[in-house]
Amino acid sequence: MIDTAEGEMLNQRFIEVTGNTISAVETKRPTGVKLIDLSDKTCLPGLMDMHVHLDGEMNPKSYIDGFTLNPADLAFRAQDFGMKTLMAGFTTVRNPGDSYNVTISLRNAINQGIVNGPRIYSAGKSLATTGGHADPTNGTNADLMGDPGPKEGVVNSVEGARKAVRQRYKDGADFIKITATGGVLSLAKSGQNPQFTEEELRSVVETANDYNMHVAAHAHGEEGMLRAVNAGITSIEHGTYMSDKVMKAMKKKGTYYVPTIIAGKFVAEKAEIDGFFPEIVRPKARAVGPKIQQTFAKAYDYGVKIAFGTDSGVSAHGDNAKEFQYMVEAGMPAMEAIQSATVTTANLLKNNTIGVIKKGNLADIIAVDGNPVDNITLLQDVTFVMKDGKVYKQ
Ligand SMILES: [Zn+2]
Repeated sequence: MIDTAEGEMLNQRFIEVTGNTISAVETKRPTGVKLIDLSDKTCLPGLMDMHVHLDGEMNPKSYIDGFTLNPADLAFRAQDFGMKTLMAGFTTVRNPGDSYNVTISLRNAINQGIVNGPRIYSAGKSLATTGGHADPTNGTNADLMGDPGPKEGVVNSVEGARKAVRQRYKDGADFIKITATGGVLSLAKSGQNPQFTEEELRSVVETANDYNMHVAAHAHGEEGMLRAVNAGITSIEHGTYMSDKVMKAMKKKGTYYVPTIIAGKFVAEKAEIDGFFPEIVRPKARAVGPKIQQTFAKAYDYGVKIAFGTDSGVSAHGDNAKEFQYMVEAGMPAMEAIQSATVTTANLLKNNTIGVIKKGNLADIIAVDGNPVDNITLLQDVTFVMKDGKVYKQ
């Protein structure tokens, strides 16, 4: 069993589960209980991914999905993608941005026991500025474009930012996602330009904090990252062109970095296929895609706090654990990579009941054959999954 708190591999342990809780971790077998024998496997706490989009999966038709699919279509997909994620050993996910708040509804349905899936923290609809990375009408004709506002997630002032955050609170979001710079996959020219003013960013963060919500910032370019970090956001997502100056600010502020290396590799690969992406997206995908793994290596060496995240929904749901392999390839020891998806993510979410197998924590337990500290790719084949004391895979 891996003790993620200490970063240690322990030999034989008995994990006693009562209801949805770990009631004891002992070296001797407790009496009078049903035994699930995982003695030929390595147990670790349920993994967590801080960046998934459960309501879709990138394909050459993705750009017309918004015109052809109804909210219910997205909701059914989200449930299926959620199950793929859970079966891959990810018992908790953070969903930074969806359409129609489907992952808020999915979270509620899972929590109520109506459907199965991972524990979800949802931001609902992401916040952007006009023409920014999460403006929902980018790239459409003028009739469809309209002028979306704070309710739809588009803000252009301090007041608008405040209103948009409060709307997310009303919608039932757990945290706020902003697009602090341009993005690769949006129908817009720049993937790097800053897209919020400092005043708008401060308004987002201050209002979110009033409601006990944290802020995750999508960012590729330096200036947008710096503004977001200085405004007090909790995590930088992707972080492609993260400079020493940004890393220094992140260390000072305690900002987390959620790298999403696998998404970079995916878009770089697909950019070479004619017709997979619109032409305006291809040069951005070619430039940004291969860079993220190098940025990750730099940030790790610099000592920036790294929280595991994949942007699955760009790459395929269920492939989340490939990210571990890319992290280890870039220089992070396997045990630290595992901690980045357990203890570090629990800290980011301010949830002290997950991320470690110990008495009193929620019974989120997974197992793999062999020792993932020696071979990190074993995490790509999780053979046992328990969430909240219930076995989903055995
Ligand atoms: Zn994303």
